[in-house]
Amino acid sequence: MLRTHTCGELRMDHIGQEVQLSGWIQRSRDLGGLTFIDLRDRYGITQLTFNMDENASLCEEARKLGREFVIQVNGLVRERSSKNKQIPTGEIEIDVKDIKILNASKTPPFTIETETDGGEELRMKYRYLDLRRPPLQDKIILRSKLALQIRNYLAGDGFIEVETPYLIKSTPEGARDFVVPSRMHEGQFYALPQSPQTFKQLLMVSGYDKYFQIVKCFRDEDLRADRQPEFTQIDCEMSFVEQEDVLATFEEMMRKVVKEIKGIELAAFPRMSYAEAMEKYGSDKPDLRFGMEFNNLNELAKGKGFNVFDQSEVVLGINAEGCAEYSRKQLDALTDYVKTPQVGAKGLVYVKLNEDGSIKSSVDKFYSAENLQEWADAMGANKGDLLLVLSGEDAPTRSAMNALRLHMGTELGLRDKDVFAPLWVVDFPLLEKDEESGHFHAMHHPFTSPKIVDLEKLESAPGEVRANAYDMVINGVELGGGSIRIADRKMQEKMLSLLGFSEEEAKAQFGFLMDAFEYGTPPHGGIAFGFDRICALLGGTDSIRDYIAFPKNNAGRDVMIDAPALIDEEQLDELHLRVKKSI
Ligand code: ASP
Repeated sequence: MLRTHTCGELRMDHIGQEVQLSGWIQRSRDLGGLTFIDLRDRYGITQLTFNMDENASLCEEARKLGREFVIQVNGLVRERSSKNKQIPTGEIEIDVKDIKILNASKTPPFTIETETDGGEELRMKYRYLDLRRPPLQDKIILRSKLALQIRNYLAGDGFIEVETPYLIKSTPEGARDFVVPSRMHEGQFYALPQSPQTFKQLLMVSGYDKYFQIVKCFRDEDLRADRQPEFTQIDCEMSFVEQEDVLATFEEMMRKVVKEIKGIELAAFPRMSYAEAMEKYGSDKPDLRFGMEFNNLNELAKGKGFNVFDQSEVVLGINAEGCAEYSRKQLDALTDYVKTPQVGAKGLVYVKLNEDGSIKSSVDKFYSAENLQEWADAMGANKGDLLLVLSGEDAPTRSAMNALRLHMGTELGLRDKDVFAPLWVVDFPLLEKDEESGHFHAMHHPFTSPKIVDLEKLESAPGEVRANAYDMVINGVELGGGSIRIADRKMQEKMLSLLGFSEEEAKAQFGFLMDAFEYGTPPHGGIAFGFDRICALLGGTDSIRDYIAFPKNNAGRDVMIDAPALIDEEQLDELHLRVKKSI
């Protein structure tokens, strides 16, 4: 090794020792008689000291070194005269006897320190430099630790890690596939997997009754904030299980991981049906760090001459506790917020339950103080509280109210990053109707089994059939989702036909899976977690990008290697991709 210690290691105990350190120059300060260099590696920073009086030529040499030069030094550990309590090595310094330049560096395009002056795009272009900064290193290291803990937990529980192929076949369900042209088979394409779903089910047929894989998945979706075209799943499947077994296994996994990483002991995860989540929170991934549940005000608010409410399918209210003192300006800002296109409400009605017992609302013309008091009573609101009310068609109003609830939660500081509120959302609908085409889609995926009690409705009222599907949600983030699968050819055929596949299409797409089902398939089910999201949640930041060493930017580009990129004509020909001009 070109070092005896790391730059984060030396303490008072080492005083008097001859050491050798290697690292990058973060900063140097030239104070005339003395020159100081902060030497950095991923473990920390150690101060190097050069004294003009003691060794003038060495001191001159040190002064010439630029930021990010990689150097190796030999020297003596000694106590600092002015100590820096901010860093673990701040009580010592190295009295340098000898420097060796291992490599020079150009001046970096931004400062490589905890706080940097580099803009987003520049840091993405020089990602390898950004990755030198401690906040990013912490995140990449957290990711590595998490992966190891998850592997240990699953391996300890008898799970086997199996790799599945990346070059597979395109399927029409779900998101758009990334495809890879085949050179050897003209005009044919592989697709990159959106998930290893069918392969893990086949592994169950093969008898590997507890499978997992930490695996890259690819989805060619329009980019939204915090989406990456390639992302990592913790993909799992188990045989001879029922829903409860899967939930218990992975609840325990998450509890262990949160304990290890955050030192927090999570209580048993509550369960909530999809229907209840939509009713109370307008979302299938409710943030349970705070209450502010929806209240249906249809009975109390309709029929009093206020046209807007009378013509609405639903009138919903939430109680922002202690917010009666909101100013005109704050209420206007909330109204502007709900009217933004992302939220999509037409307006906001408020009711202030003042401390002095008076009530003031934006609909005083239509409702007496007694009427409004009834709303307050129905919502469990008290003096000092502020009621916020939205109305309109059911689904969009719930979705707008969900946004407003989260907005208020943030504004009132109720969404603390160090509080973890997990739950399982269960009993999802099996199918979802596409309003435009009138077709049914699988809400989860076509391999999810329907609940036996709802089977009779499969033909008559498919929209009402519930699935054996579940999501793990923490703090409003869907961390993972899965289901108990269909394990029977007939049922799988029926499902595919409900989804609009002809018999031939079903065979062509999923014949291999249905064939396998005929050779002794155990009952099975599983789940997949978004690993990047788990990292971000436990790391306490919103963006998954920080936890991916080399992510794509918002436009799906890798600006460092400059991908995607054109390929040359020869490659196009080889891949049979050149558009042939008609003669
Ligand atoms: N493969 C599914 C997904 O990616 C998860 C699962 O059902 O296990 O969403």
